[in-house]
Amino acid sequence: MITELSQVYEELQKPEVEVNSKFMYSSAKTNNRTKKMSLGRIWFNMLLPDDYKLINEAVTKKLTNSIMIDILNTSGAKVASDTLSKINSEAFKMQTIVPVTFQEQDFTLPDKIQKMKDDRLNGETDPVKFQEKLTVIANEYLKWLKDNNSGLYDIVASGAKGNATDIAVLLIARGSTSDFDGNLTKPSTHAVNDGYTLNEFYENANQARSALFIRSVGSAVPGDTSRITAFANSNVVLSDTQDCKTNRYLTIKVTKDLSERILQRYHMVNGKPTLITSDSDVLDKVIKLRSPLYCIQKDGICPTCYGETAKTLDSKTIGLLASSVIGTKILNNFTMKSRHLSSSVRFKNVDLVKDLIR
Ligand SMILES: [Zn+2]
Repeated sequence: MITELSQVYEELQKPEVEVNSKFMYSSAKTNNRTKKMSLGRIWFNMLLPDDYKLINEAVTKKLTNSIMIDILNTSGAKVASDTLSKINSEAFKMQTIVPVTFQEQDFTLPDKIQKMKDDRLNGETDPVKFQEKLTVIANEYLKWLKDNNSGLYDIVASGAKGNATDIAVLLIARGSTSDFDGNLTKPSTHAVNDGYTLNEFYENANQARSALFIRSVGSAVPGDTSRITAFANSNVVLSDTQDCKTNRYLTIKVTKDLSERILQRYHMVNGKPTLITSDSDVLDKVIKLRSPLYCIQKDGICPTCYGETAKTLDSKTIGLLASSVIGTKILNNFTMKSRHLSSSVRFKNVDLVKDLIR
């Protein structure tokens, strides 16, 4: 019977232990009944709060995120942050005992997939059709990796790193790349794993150059914008006066996306500033939101116009804070995203007339 984390680590260090072998586990989570579970699942449940429900399924990045939000909503910030720290430190420890890895044979395509690749991709010159066929083969290969207990499958399926397209480009075929002007090259049937021909190497380099260009040129613009924004906002500070009593508000219709972003802000209900604590309070309603845009306080922005997060700030220089947030957003959305998109080209057939009519 496993009751302590240390027992999990002890079992994992035994040379004869099988990754998928089941162990006895019993706790408040199982209503004190004995359950047979894998060491990994027992370990994960031990990291969650004692009163949290039993998780008995493969844990992915997505599931971990939803569990954390769940804990935050039901048990509060302190418990959630303690749980996160515990998962963090224990996961690092776990990685030193049973690191996730993959074997050399994961990089040799099985005969079945190699045959698929030869049959379907050789002679296909249309970039869009090539890409479609490649994705199908990549998903078949992922299935094969899963059936053969490959660590590579775990890494992709958990959401830790990579997806079917990455697997395709690295192991099956590179497909088309785009050059500086957006022209598509003839699809390449070689993957990084196979090595490229001279021509393929040259064409791929073309796309790499375009990505380097976007990164270098694209970083300068948001960098300069950040500097200007910081300069312009540096005198915007938080005021000590609680409420400026302005009578101008942002009248907005609250959508789902907005509702999550205006939490802890004030809106006017019957002439009184009221804190928004839950998105369901304001969802789909038209509200009068208090906003720094309409604050009339002379010595800075009042905390009622700014929102409740004013209380959590160490400094009053909210203008500089906002500038750095804006700068980061611009950098991430314009430069980083376009760079990542440029490294994995996706194709779409466009019917201009049809798209225009729609
Ligand atoms: Zn104000």
